[in-house]
Amino acid sequence: MPSRIGILGGTFDPIHIGHLVAAVEARFRLRLDRMLLVVANQPWQKVGERAVTPARDRLAVVAAAVEDVAGIEASSLEIERGGPSFTADTVAELRLRYPEAELFLVVGEDVAASLDTWHRAERLPEEVTLVVVRRGGMPPVPAPAGWRVELLDIPALEISSSELRRRLAVGEPVEFLIPGAAISCIRSRGLYAEDR
Ligand code: ATP
Ligand code: MG
Repeated sequence: MPSRIGILGGTFDPIHIGHLVAAVEARFRLRLDRMLLVVANQPWQKVGERAVTPARDRLAVVAAAVEDVAGIEASSLEIERGGPSFTADTVAELRLRYPEAELFLVVGEDVAASLDTWHRAERLPEEVTLVVVRRGGMPPVPAPAGWRVELLDIPALEISSSELRRRLAVGEPVEFLIPGAAISCIRSRGLYAEDR
């Protein structure tokens, strides 16, 4: 039987419970065998906007966050490929590795609204089912045309990596917004604390 694989790509700078609840809920609702949290090597949409934390550090924090969570994995695919991270390349690579698998691309609504800006994405709608996660506080977007789409409601968590970077930089608490093991990993690597 072909396996069902979910892909949740992100910068994860850092990972937080919004990402994790989306991943767990997608795995459960869509009966995925594996849910990959694919850490972007160079998030081309964010390059130039701000300094992005080194990819290996972001990956280590994601791995710590999911170490005890069944079926959810940190993926270094884009980091090993190197260069700018395009989802189309990642899907092509997974397709080669798992020719029989059904692939589910999980995105928040903010990302779903900007799919038409993606590079080399022309063939993606044939390759994957798009899973649009309703993200709390965001106005609903129309389902993108041309894709097989599943809508997924998750408990709304009004949290973002940007807000966590701000909190970490000024020493505000992040407990329960980030899993404890991931917080330990952030602290032991001295990440996000440049202003302190
Ligand atoms: P930043 O604030 O730096 O943009 P972010 O919190 O949006 O970070 P990303 O790494 O950009 O995190 O997001 C990766 C994916 O997770 C995207 O598809 C995004 O829509 C989704 N996502 C992010 N935050 C949430 C949340 N609170 N609930 C549900 N999905 C989320
Ligand atoms: Mg974002």
